[in-house]
Amino acid sequence: MSDGMTYIHDIGQFTLVCANCGATAAGTSKRFRCACGTPFDLSLDTLAQDATVEALRARFAARLSALSGPERSGVWRYRELALPLADEHIVSRQEGNTPLYAVGAAEREAWRSIGVYAGVEALYLKHEGHNPTGSFKDRGMTVGMSIAKALGARAVACASTGNTSASLAAYAAQAGIPALVFLPAGKVATGKLAQSVAYGARQIAVAGDFDDAMRQVESVAERLGIYLLNSINPYRLAGQRSIGYELLHQLQWQAPDWVALPAGNLGNTAAIGAALVRAAEVGLIARVPRLAAVQAARANPFYQSYADQWRGFAPVHASTRASAINIGAPVSYARARAMIEATRGVVTEVTDDEIFATKARIDRAGIGCEPASAASVAGVRRLVREGVIAPGETVVAILTGHVLKDPEQATASEPEAGAEVSDLLRAIAETLQASSPRA
Ligand SMILES: [Zn+2]
Repeated sequence: MSDGMTYIHDIGQFTLVCANCGATAAGTSKRFRCACGTPFDLSLDTLAQDATVEALRARFAARLSALSGPERSGVWRYRELALPLADEHIVSRQEGNTPLYAVGAAEREAWRSIGVYAGVEALYLKHEGHNPTGSFKDRGMTVGMSIAKALGARAVACASTGNTSASLAAYAAQAGIPALVFLPAGKVATGKLAQSVAYGARQIAVAGDFDDAMRQVESVAERLGIYLLNSINPYRLAGQRSIGYELLHQLQWQAPDWVALPAGNLGNTAAIGAALVRAAEVGLIARVPRLAAVQAARANPFYQSYADQWRGFAPVHASTRASAINIGAPVSYARARAMIEATRGVVTEVTDDEIFATKARIDRAGIGCEPASAASVAGVRRLVREGVIAPGETVVAILTGHVLKDPEQATASEPEAGAEVSDLLRAIAETLQASSPRA
């Protein structure tokens, strides 16, 4: 390559490592669990790094103006740190590149209502709902699907609460690989279901919840030799790390004090945490931001373990209306815990009422998000009230999915039905009169 960086052509050059027992497997392996039961991690941090911090920053900045090639993507822009995969393998559609909205109480626009509500002067929303299929999943999927294609997978599959299946279906169509999605019957939001149908994935309804669907897809994939693209696949998490790199880049490499995120299957907690730690290690930022992982109180095994000083970990029966984090047996528990510890992070929980009250604020500001996304801001609000986050600290909250993902859960408001047009116009005029600023 012209920039002197060495990119990987042979997938076998990557190594999967078990954090529990130290066993390794080749990067071409289709099994993502070590014999000891622990999901494998992708060994990335040991890959040779040939660039100085200044050179890396200059390279990332230059790629912002690329008009062709995979580096237009907000994932592959950071490929040295996300995954140094060679161009010929990459299946990409300019994913990432998501906005970072300034909504802190110190801002001057109406969006500051969100910062006032959360109690934070400098609050940013990293809106991952702006990805091609409307959720952060596309960042992991571009990497996972690239590997699937490079390995010649005959089919790809995932279990999903909805966002992963939408992303898998879209990227599989682009790669020309048949897709199977295992969905908990009757528990997937309409917008997400519509996507995987439209993008042509074969859908398999599983009786039970996400955790049941996950168990089924793992056993079927192994038996039929189908490439599994759940977040147990370590390449997916490598792509998700780019959320961390991109938000730090957008803040001009000034580390925020906190990064808050919804916590369900815990892949993002692990991936974003790893990115923050890595960015500090290579000198892109001066200090590691603290992670705040936020669970729904009715799907909170990670919070329970944290509150018990990590003494134990027990799956729960999950029952939150925030369907994207309605997960009782998170796959990435151990990696996520390691990242909470490495970032001096915290885990908290919020009720469904808090999630939906917060979503209403985000929706009314004209930004909007799916219910699970609002957990991050609701968690920030709670942590400010508990004195864990100081009002003057800088906080980035991750919004994971688009408001249209879950249209039934959009904040309710009564339609003005039955009125005559003239009555309606008078009512609107009165409303405008009442809300107009006094000169
Ligand atoms: Zn092991």
